Amino acid sequence: MYTAAFQYLRPKSLAEAEAAFAKNGDAKYLAGGQTLIPTMKQRLAAPSLLIDLARLSSLVFIRSEANALVIGAGTTHAAVAASVDVKKAIPALAHLASHIGDPAVRHRGTLGGSIANNDPAADYPAAVLALGATIRTTRRTIAGDDFFTGMFSTALEDGEIVTEVSFPRARRAGYAKFPNPASRYAMAGVFVAELANGVRVAVTGAAPSVFRVQDMEGVLARNFSPDAIAGIEVPADGLNSDLFASAEYRAHLVTVMAKRAIAAAMV
Ligand SMILES: Cc1cc2nc3c(=O)[nH]c(=O)nc-3n(C[C@H](O)[C@H](O)[C@H](O)COP(=O)(O)OP(=O)(O)OC[C@H]3O[C@@H](n4cnc5c(N)ncnc54)[C@H](O)[C@@H]3O)c2cc1C
Repeated sequence: MYTAAFQYLRPKSLAEAEAAFAKNGDAKYLAGGQTLIPTMKQRLAAPSLLIDLARLSSLVFIRSEANALVIGAGTTHAAVAASVDVKKAIPALAHLASHIGDPAVRHRGTLGGSIANNDPAADYPAAVLALGATIRTTRRTIAGDDFFTGMFSTALEDGEIVTEVSFPRARRAGYAKFPNPASRYAMAGVFVAELANGVRVAVTGAAPSVFRVQDMEGVLARNFSPDAIAGIEVPADGLNSDLFASAEYRAHLVTVMAKRAIAAAMV
């Protein structure tokens, strides 16, 4: 199917992008287009104006700081996966990015597009939540804990643009996902991070939105090993159930993926 007709704008600055959005209530920002374009082709979205952020070089960077890794919203998954700085600072993040979709998706899809979209099965939200990352936008700074508000929904206001994400350096971190064999989206993905102030475990793919497993966090703070959480099961209530996996199967996968993520973090 073809998209409905739309206007296209390639702004030269974030200010121009926001001003164009403010003048056009049903505009949409375009980044890698990996979600937005298919959605438009299916006529599930029909914005009258696309504001293309992909050429804004100010959104494309990876900066290594003393305590954090800061990644521009327009940075592609392929760039994150290949970055020596990311591999050195938070190898689990490079691993996560390298397992998103396929090469075409990774070379177009961006960090900002992924978290702004907040697909229930997207990988980055697990890293943002587990690492306690901070999201910077054109208007403010939002804690990762407050950013993901539900299925395909975030704390972003109309027209607000994600500019960068600051990921604290973890002492150790690991990510493991059980991918849908067709799309590579997570049927269940678990990011485990040991930080200066404790351990955080975040799950994607299993529920309508990313969530933490505090029962595992408490145990891992005392004993950071796969066996320590072997007996902890996530309740199936409220988990996703579809033709690929039941809620009970996803609940089981969460513990299995968490054990694999911990093992990866210990290497
Ligand atoms: C076949 C296929 C397989 C995939 N597999 C995976 C997978 O395994 N794991 C995974 O995590 N993802 C997967 N994806 C999703 C992909 O990785 C992209 O991250 C995702 O599509 C959105 O990023 P994008 O840059 O393409 O954004 P777009 O599609 O351009 O935009 C998505 C949404 O975000 C908004 N937006 C974009 N950038 C910003 C910004 N800076 N500030 C505010 N709003 C913004 C747009 O307006 C739009 O609403 C897959 C996609 C496809 C097509």
